Amino acid sequence: MIRADELYRFYRAGDEEVRALRGVSLEARPGEVVAVTGPSGSGKSTLLACLAGLDEPDGGAVWIDRTRISHRPEPQRAALRARCIGVLFQSGNLIEHLTVGQNLDLAQKLTGRRDSAWADHVLRLTGLTARAGARPSTLSGGEAARAGLAVALAGRPAVLVADEPTGELDRATEAEILSLLRQQARRPSAVVIASHSPAVRRFADRVLTLHDGRIT
Ligand code: ADP
Ligand code: MG
Repeated sequence: MIRADELYRFYRAGDEEVRALRGVSLEARPGEVVAVTGPSGSGKSTLLACLAGLDEPDGGAVWIDRTRISHRPEPQRAALRARCIGVLFQSGNLIEHLTVGQNLDLAQKLTGRRDSAWADHVLRLTGLTARAGARPSTLSGGEAARAGLAVALAGRPAVLVADEPTGELDRATEAEILSLLRQQARRPSAVVIASHSPAVRRFADRVLTLHDGRIT
């Protein structure tokens, strides 16, 4: 389970202060898909970065089960993230000079648990077994999206955090990715997706809407 309690995040640029999150709480239980929607600039990416321990909230806390991931030194957050959280961002999480298979391998190494049977399973699940030796630049758009998901799943995460994972995909590929996310939720794992896609809203078990850093 992942839980955010009253998250605040402020950005300062000179005299300007952007209040990106203003007291946002959410919870996603294993088996549950929670969508975070809201207009551009409403704080979705900031929220997901805090959930994944990629960013630190200025107030509030993030918990993975009974372990707090926020307010820790970055190496500790990175270790917790590797062990518990799959992160999927639109821009992709593939390292270009490694093959798809090597990308999965690296993601597993970071968790401290190598499991080649699981890596093979993830490649089959995402339909990439035949492409395991391919470099990311040679993948089609759909393959690249599935490879990004494969890397996010490589460490058998209890929580999957996806920021606009289908933002650049055609409808058929989006449906494919959503179906894979649903299978992941059934493992069961908690899935949080930031998106303004109507398909994602329909697909989610619960939809939270952000406006100016607050849930409405
Ligand atoms: P969304 O993902 O919903 O589009 P973001 O979380 O990216 O929203 O941004 C929320 C607000 O925080 C926006 O006003 C954005 O400009 C601001 N913001 C995000 N990241 C930074 C940053 N690193 N520095 C300054 N302002 C930022
Ligand atoms: Mg965003």
